[in-house]
Amino acid sequence: MPAPKTLAELEQDVRRDLALTAHPSAPWLVPKTSGGKPVLDCLVIGAGQCGLAVAHALQRDRVDNLLVVDRAPYGKEGPWVTYARMRTLRSWKTQIGPDLKLPSLCYQAWHEAQFGADHFDRMTWIPKELWQDYLLWFRRITGVKVRNGVAAGAITPSRTDDGLPCLRVETSDGPMLARKVVLATGQEGVGFWWMPEFVAALPRHLRAHAAEEIDFAALRGKRVAVLGAGASAFDNAAMALEAGAADVQLFCRRAEPMVIQPYRWLTFAGFLKHMHQMPDAWRWRFMAKVLGLREGFPQDTYSRVTRFPNFLMRIGQPWTAARAEGAEAVVTTPKGEHRADFLICGTGVRMDPSAVPELAACAGNIAQWHDRYTPPAAEADERLGCFPYLAADSSFEEKRPGETPWIRDIHLFGIGTSMSFGPAGSSINALSIAAPRVAAGVTRGLFEADLPRLWDSLLAYDVKQVELDPARLAAE
Ligand SMILES: Cc1cc2nc3c(=O)[nH]c(=O)nc-3n(C[C@H](O)[C@H](O)[C@H](O)COP(=O)(O)OP(=O)(O)OC[C@H]3O[C@@H](n4cnc5c(N)ncnc54)[C@H](O)[C@@H]3O)c2cc1C
Repeated sequence: MPAPKTLAELEQDVRRDLALTAHPSAPWLVPKTSGGKPVLDCLVIGAGQCGLAVAHALQRDRVDNLLVVDRAPYGKEGPWVTYARMRTLRSWKTQIGPDLKLPSLCYQAWHEAQFGADHFDRMTWIPKELWQDYLLWFRRITGVKVRNGVAAGAITPSRTDDGLPCLRVETSDGPMLARKVVLATGQEGVGFWWMPEFVAALPRHLRAHAAEEIDFAALRGKRVAVLGAGASAFDNAAMALEAGAADVQLFCRRAEPMVIQPYRWLTFAGFLKHMHQMPDAWRWRFMAKVLGLREGFPQDTYSRVTRFPNFLMRIGQPWTAARAEGAEAVVTTPKGEHRADFLICGTGVRMDPSAVPELAACAGNIAQWHDRYTPPAAEADERLGCFPYLAADSSFEEKRPGETPWIRDIHLFGIGTSMSFGPAGSSINALSIAAPRVAAGVTRGLFEADLPRLWDSLLAYDVKQVELDPARLAAE
């Protein structure tokens, strides 16, 4: 079937498709106030792919009183044009994402409308900048309301003027009120970018995390040591090499580097749709295996570093200590010491609600996996036990019921959902399945809280669809 020839044609298709599939389109929510101030039905924090996808799903369910905020300036949301240092996405180009399975909204449709179907066929991987452009187009064409440059802070409980629970969110634009909050704040949404404490203790000019801004040009002629053997560690090693670093060595904890990508294995409907409905023991077992393997590096990423003779991968050599000596960093490994001018840690994130300003008022009462499930000794993993243990609607559960019941109105969408839901928000492959599920969690709560009002509405319902003929009515 021929693809639309221009973006303008595709945009017409999008509008038509959205209209054709708008059912049920009746508005059903009534705007609320709190202290006379307007209350949003939902505030989505984060305008990355997860925030946009869930906002779009909510809009489709007529949650119109909705706002998305992002602290990043327009066009700089998420990792794609900031700290993602690969050239292309690592996921297949045919994977769909925030489109919620609407063909005209898919990445491929957008790509073909601009560059042609042949171009899409010839392309192996999606350039990351194009993915970002696509997300911005998606946001415009779906009309998702986003306010950039607004940083959200602490969330606390409040009430609407008619007595319903709602949340108050401090933001750089002043306080905002919302009945529901979706936390779509990315990789560090329920934690922080982690590096070993002994590396973090070094002066900043000697070390960085792979997710930080790094002045690669300044690494020209320098010796760089990278910790970690996941895809991001390799991307950062490649950037250093391409910038002219004299020597780049990558330190891998494992004796055998991980060359498979578990996210490829789990990309099938059964897993993506139903893992979250399985008993804890199975959810733990599968996700502990997947997250234990980490994000594997693809062939292209590997080739990007191995074309440099001054690259070396050291296997079975975790860092056990580090110190600064003059202008150098010295790291200790089980095989001896290694000296470098700069260290980069590709060591991912750790879950820790207490590290997140938005959760300052409730962090201590957010249930985590270690509160709810004890795995068999062979499957134990302290790191994974810190993931939040989420309710079926993707909201936080309380560690001690009754202390902070309002956290049931904060729904999480991002990598922090991984132990509870599988890769719901941690990769593109699950977005089209996970976003409607999170949106349904939000609408369920809004609907439930509105039951008394809706009951009154039903009782008052008097829209006649037929005029009776009195001459044809007999009571006896
Ligand atoms: C380097 C890298 C490469 C990846 N490559 C792939 C890939 O190729 N394929 C794949 O499927 N997955 C990939 N992923 C995984 C995943 O798809 C991405 O992390 C993706 O960006 C997740 O989307 P998100 O919406 O959860 O978070 P993000 O895209 O990070 O968006 C979160 C947004 O929240 C905003 N924010 C955070 N805190 C606040 C606050 N307090 N107030 C206001 N705004 C806030 C941020 O500014 C950001 O824009 C990659 C991840 C990384 C880190």
